[in-house]
Amino acid sequence: PRTPLIAGNWKMVLDHQQGTLLVQKLDWTLKDAKHDYAAVEVAVLPSHTSLRTVQTLIEGDRLSIVLGAQDVSAHESGAYTGEVSGAQLAKLGVTYVAVGHSERRQYHGETDEVVNAKTKQALAHGLVPIVCVGEPLEVRQAAQHVEFTVGQVTQALSGLAKEQVAGLVLAYEPVWAIGTGEVATPEDAQEVCAALRAAVAEQFDAATAEAVRVLYGGSVKPASIAAIMQQADVDGALVGGASTDAGDFAAIVRYRD
Ligand code: 13P
Repeated sequence: PRTPLIAGNWKMVLDHQQGTLLVQKLDWTLKDAKHDYAAVEVAVLPSHTSLRTVQTLIEGDRLSIVLGAQDVSAHESGAYTGEVSGAQLAKLGVTYVAVGHSERRQYHGETDEVVNAKTKQALAHGLVPIVCVGEPLEVRQAAQHVEFTVGQVTQALSGLAKEQVAGLVLAYEPVWAIGTGEVATPEDAQEVCAALRAAVAEQFDAATAEAVRVLYGGSVKPASIAAIMQQADVDGALVGGASTDAGDFAAIVRYRD
């Protein structure tokens, strides 16, 4: 049984003061609802500049919300101005790190090779990569979305041991559904999430595929989450816009209510 994960990707939206306020509100709201964090895990992915303050809050108040980062360097350490290493994130108490988000691929030229290197860096430092894949609109219109996203996953996981893959998270985020208000149908999400799991079974083995968690992301809102979570191969959500509002994000976390 895979524990569902609801992760909030704040992108470049909240500063550290807004971020700590949001985590406090989220924690109060979920405590009010008697949220069982062991049943549905909750993570937030602030900007690098907010990691330290959010970590201090989480540790100081012993919150059950888990800390994630939005990116990690493909390099171990050294002369890489502006980059943040896996070791630095691990030292800050970061658990999850997104790699290969479509915005990184699109605006920062991240190739599948870079995503593979970042995944390896994250794992080398004990972080749990959230490996993001997803097709642009043209690919969906050409009905090539399964081949396309399976190809991205295969390359991202290339050279990993099955024990490493079993513990990581994949996120299917169709580019046309990100920030557009156009959410994929639950069936669209299920089709690709199942295909990604099958690809892991083929590349590694059935037990690894059974263990790996696959999230859906793209315009997830309180009203759309429940139907998406009902799909057999969807193990959670990576939420952008709606995660920067404590009430909306708490409602998404509480999709079973
Ligand atoms: P939105 O929820 O704003 O569409 O963003 C999705 C996303 O990219 C999460 O990583």
